[in-house]
Amino acid sequence: MEKRYQLFIGGQWVDSLSGKTFPSLNPATGEINGIVSEAGAEDVDVAVKAARKAFETGPWADMAPSDRGRLLHRAAQKMWEKLDFLAEVESTDNGLPINETKYIAMPAMIDVLEFYAGLANKVQGETHSSPANRFTYTLREPIGVIGAIVPWNFPLMLAMWKMAPALAAGNTIVIKPAEQTPISILELAKIFQEAGIPDGVINVVPGYGAIAGNALTSHPDVDKIAFTGSTATGRLIMQAASKNVKPVSLELGGKSPNIVFDDANLEDAVNGSLFGIYFAQGQVCAAGSRLFVQDRIYDKFIDLFSQKAQTIRTGNPLDPTTQMGPQVSLTQLDRIENYVASGLEEGANLVLGGKRNPQAGTGYFYTPTIFENVTNEMKIAREEIFGPVISLIRFKEEEDAIKLANDTNYGLASGVWTNDLKRAHRMARGLKAGTVYVNTYSMLDSTVSFGGTKQSGFGRELGIQAMDMYTHTKSVWVDLGKQGLNWYGV
Ligand code: NAD
Repeated sequence: MEKRYQLFIGGQWVDSLSGKTFPSLNPATGEINGIVSEAGAEDVDVAVKAARKAFETGPWADMAPSDRGRLLHRAAQKMWEKLDFLAEVESTDNGLPINETKYIAMPAMIDVLEFYAGLANKVQGETHSSPANRFTYTLREPIGVIGAIVPWNFPLMLAMWKMAPALAAGNTIVIKPAEQTPISILELAKIFQEAGIPDGVINVVPGYGAIAGNALTSHPDVDKIAFTGSTATGRLIMQAASKNVKPVSLELGGKSPNIVFDDANLEDAVNGSLFGIYFAQGQVCAAGSRLFVQDRIYDKFIDLFSQKAQTIRTGNPLDPTTQMGPQVSLTQLDRIENYVASGLEEGANLVLGGKRNPQAGTGYFYTPTIFENVTNEMKIAREEIFGPVISLIRFKEEEDAIKLANDTNYGLASGVWTNDLKRAHRMARGLKAGTVYVNTYSMLDSTVSFGGTKQSGFGRELGIQAMDMYTHTKSVWVDLGKQGLNWYGV
């Protein structure tokens, strides 16, 4: 008997009003992992009303910021206690290897909550140098009801990137998880509830993008949309949000360049670049999927890179020795196959993989794949594949590398491998991306902001900066009644 999951609205676990459900599949087996209530527009409306009520009249709105922070810390403590459980739920829901959920994604997710819990009582306005008859100051206030829409690649972590700063600032939130991975966020909501977060502050409405997602983005009583997902959906969200001029923040796709110079430590560059593409089966928005390698070390680099890629252990995500799990869905597997076919058609040289991997399990497994002799014009170098496929491109000089790296519609992340300090900093300035990694790749920390340029989106998550996205500034003018200069000089 499959486990059943309901919507979480106003502190209650409820069926959708239509009674509709949808299956959530385990990508490692293709079997049903749980049956989930499917939110329609009417459920989203109820959730937004609950969030509004909690924002306007609930205890959350009046709570001292320190108390809010304390409650969030309590939730974080419960998450540490349930870390193994959450890691297993997440790995079963989306196929991430258990070592990646247990030792990377879950600790990082809880760290984010703790970071913002600590900021809850540090939201500050300012006073200004005013003339003697005036006093002006600013208040930093929560925005109101936040609509959050997240994808399936790191469901809990990406939800927390939005929930933690939004809640710390005093907002309430309605979250729509991806239809492929609704379960872990429902389990997370349960922990928040156990920690004593008041009813209606967090609402979770699993469902499909075009229905529940669209209902949330176009809802007139949602004050802001925080979205992570594809660039194509980001465009739709901007359109829907424009109806009532809702602010949006968008963390979208990428086609990030990772550049290896011939003076780099080869072993480090190979290991870091492998992590840069194969971590999470390549389903990472910042994945270093265009690998530029300098002429003189190109052949040596490919040899070592493909040797090591062949040793990646693919299989059951719950096995602690597994290094690569399944792709999240059959749709993704088909998408990867189409891109690989296009790479072959356009003349790229397939060095490794390029096929499904049924030996790894009955689910959606794909082999680590390497294309070389790729040009920056090929489709596999221009479009986001979101799978374990890397394109190697040869370059000669630093200027060529910068030009090629920036020749993309995206601008999320980038990497540089070099032992030349001056070059590293020149590259950091020259690369058009939200993040530049130097002699490392795919690092994240709660304290460091993350986000894109160009069609990778706008707004910055993580770091102190993210609080700006969940508060607005109100300017207050007070007449002190004392004679002095005013607007008219009297
Ligand atoms: P997607 O855009 O199809 O879906 C993401 C979310 O949007 C899902 O919850 C989906 O249900 C919802 N959605 C779909 N259509 C919608 C609509 N019309 N209105 C409102 N919501 C809608 O993306 P995906 O394929 O699930 O996820 C992969 C994409 O996410 C990749 O492009 C990846 O680069 C991007 N991503 C970006 C980051 C980042 O931080 N920049 C992080 C992870 C993933």
